[in-house]
Amino acid sequence: MKDMNKKEETPFLEVNNLTVEYFNKTQVVHAVSDISFQLQKGKTLGLVGETGAGKTSIAKAILRILPDVGARIPKGEVMLNGVQISSIPEKKMQEIRGNEISMIFQDPMTALNPVQRVGDQIAEVIALHNEISAEETKKRTEEMLELVGIPKERYREYPHQFSGGMKQRVVIAMALACNPELLLADEPTTALDVTIQAQVLSLIEQLKEKFNTSMILITHDMGVIAQTCDDVAIVYAGSILEFGSKEQIFKHPSHPYTIGLFNAIPNMNMDEEWLHPIEGLPPDPTNLPEGCPFHPRCSYATEECKHGKVEMRLTEDGHRCACCHFEDVIKVGGK
Ligand code: SF4
Repeated sequence: MKDMNKKEETPFLEVNNLTVEYFNKTQVVHAVSDISFQLQKGKTLGLVGETGAGKTSIAKAILRILPDVGARIPKGEVMLNGVQISSIPEKKMQEIRGNEISMIFQDPMTALNPVQRVGDQIAEVIALHNEISAEETKKRTEEMLELVGIPKERYREYPHQFSGGMKQRVVIAMALACNPELLLADEPTTALDVTIQAQVLSLIEQLKEKFNTSMILITHDMGVIAQTCDDVAIVYAGSILEFGSKEQIFKHPSHPYTIGLFNAIPNMNMDEEWLHPIEGLPPDPTNLPEGCPFHPRCSYATEECKHGKVEMRLTEDGHRCACCHFEDVIKVGGK
């Protein structure tokens, strides 16, 4: 099924009915279930959801870096600039990785090789995708270091000589070294303390503007979404429950789960003794509930919610929500 809100022009990135499963001899983990979305050139889409919701699996499936053993994509397609990249030969995909799509991983400690100089790690990415001399590679590496705010004199240092924030800058330099069209940023600031988070986010934003890069930003932090994203997809138990522009999601949240997420954020203007968490836990991905995946935790759930797939419905222009009762939910619990 194609996205009901599809615009006429070819979207920069189009994901259709993507499904990801992890499996062993006895169990299947339904990590991503039949999701569809689009991203326009130069825009940032935020994927928000709790840990284990399937956000990273979506990014890895787009980049085709899921494990060779124990993971599969039973259905779905990914189109980049109108070209289907989800089933092209691996050799062709290797050219796309780094060149057209790059990923910033969550933890810079594990993303960097501890026994290789940081400059060499960036240079390796540049050399892999460009037929240029060693001298030119070194020059470009030094430029990338300076671009992310690291003096080029630190080229020969090792990751352990850098702070967490500086390490993440190196990872960002590696991801942007070949000027990719699409950047997948997987919780790029989660491992950093709050002040460094703000610096790294602002750096990503500046570089994105400079190169007109499109970005998928994975986070569980609504503050990060508010600061950086154009569009937002709310991900829960491997499904997208709500999709819209940042303004639509923040001003008119329509899905009970999205409303629950906002209610759980402490309000600094009110003297409240207790936070308002969403009751219950996300479902076991090896045994997802039938019908709406949120129904065991939803106070609006009816019999209708417990059977069959709940389709995305248009709530306003470009704003979609997978809830049978969103009109009632908005009346009672929306903003
Ligand atoms: Fe709740 Fe039903 Fe809407 Fe799911 S479909 S969020 S269970 S009201």
